[in-house]
Amino acid sequence: MERNWCGVLRYSAAEVHYPTTVGQAQGLVAAADRVKALGTRHSFSTVADSPGGILLDMTGLDTGITVDHQAMTATVPAGSTYSVVVDALESEGVALRNLGSLPHISIAGATATGTHGSGDTNKVLSAAIIELELITADGSLRQVGQSSGDLAAMAVGLGAFGVITQVTLEVEPSFDVLQDVYLGAPWEVFLDNLDEIMASAYSVNVGGNFSSDNLRSFWLKHRLDVDHSGDPIVPERPPTMFGATLYDEPVARNPAATPLGVPGPWSQRLAHFRPDVEPSVAGDELQSEWFVARADAADALRALRDMGEDIDPHLHGFELRTVAADALWLSPAYGRDTFSIGFTWKKHPDEVRALLQPIENALSPFHVRPHMGKLSAVSRGVLADRFDRLDDFLAVVDRYDPTSKFSNPYLQTLRPQD
Ligand SMILES: Cc1cc2nc3c(=O)[nH]c(=O)nc-3n(C[C@H](O)[C@H](O)[C@H](O)COP(=O)(O)OP(=O)(O)OC[C@H]3O[C@@H](n4cnc5c(N)ncnc54)[C@H](O)[C@@H]3O)c2cc1C
Repeated sequence: MERNWCGVLRYSAAEVHYPTTVGQAQGLVAAADRVKALGTRHSFSTVADSPGGILLDMTGLDTGITVDHQAMTATVPAGSTYSVVVDALESEGVALRNLGSLPHISIAGATATGTHGSGDTNKVLSAAIIELELITADGSLRQVGQSSGDLAAMAVGLGAFGVITQVTLEVEPSFDVLQDVYLGAPWEVFLDNLDEIMASAYSVNVGGNFSSDNLRSFWLKHRLDVDHSGDPIVPERPPTMFGATLYDEPVARNPAATPLGVPGPWSQRLAHFRPDVEPSVAGDELQSEWFVARADAADALRALRDMGEDIDPHLHGFELRTVAADALWLSPAYGRDTFSIGFTWKKHPDEVRALLQPIENALSPFHVRPHMGKLSAVSRGVLADRFDRLDDFLAVVDRYDPTSKFSNPYLQTLRPQD
């Protein structure tokens, strides 16, 4: 059977289908007892699996990309990757507000798990959704837009409502971005100045590990204004900031990274990774990510620093980001400005699994939420405590999917246990 992107998870569905038309996908959904849509398979959790059922790989179903310049929206195929979509949008002079760290993931798959980038004013990618078109349990096609209260449940929908065929996203005029990387700030300087550092650019990512004295990097993405002749205004690039030193090279140390130090279109700078190269550490990894309230960031990091000697032997590195609050029920940033702590683990599945619960225990005073597409110790009790609208979410799922056709063991963990 087929595997996820990093190869560790083997899907336990009986078959994978590759519909190329909406009609084919409708027929497959109508005939199936259990079915789940698949995007580009970058999730580390079992959220996309369908044990004993079928999987619909939606990446080959091309419904076309259309931009409405009046409404400032773009309607895109659900299974299309961000890399395909951003190039098409850039050629039309429009932009998405933000991207996750990689453009290789599908629109519907990324938004289904609350994927986010960074930036104090930037929300999860699902917050750009204006309308979804989906195939529901009986095979019929349905549109759900902002006028429906259901969109707040479905925008971060974990594939629980049906198979999404098209997504309409909010767009804005295209803009340029300049990326700068600063290396080696002392941990304690970062913790003492965390708010100022995270607010120092449109999008800020902090990399490092827990037990060292210094951080690896501040990765700043500056959104550039333009002058009266339309040229981007490039900000001053101080040689140091908060004890970190500017890495003044046009190419990042990781060859998979997007260009540094030179202004360029949002479509080639907002993601960290270039679309033509395998991202991150090329799949030699597992990932987890946890979210706390922005105000608790420094205390949560201190709690993890106390576990640094246990965590770091199994860690390639962490990534720290901010996400603006939203009103999407299963969003990691629902109702609170959020600080995200992402772990890129070495491929040590047993050791990593053994650390998930201790990490969640350490972060539990901060009302921590897990990333649903990554590895965590999810349990109903904890999730019900952390996601205020979880039961409302499940009520909408039951309305769309009364026979649990789109459910799986992962989604079952969200429900009250007998
Ligand atoms: C290297 C790497 C970097 C990452 N960086 C980030 C990051 O910066 N920020 C972040 O938040 N996350 C990040 N992630 C996690 C990733 O964004 C999520 O796991 C995302 O869900 C992957 O999208 P996908 O297309 O692979 O979805 P899949 O893993 O294929 O599916 C995920 C979920 O979406 C559902 N789904 C997929 N397509 C459809 C559809 N057409 N209709 C209905 N449901 C559907 C599936 O059923 C499943 O529930 C990263 C992952 C990797 C591997």
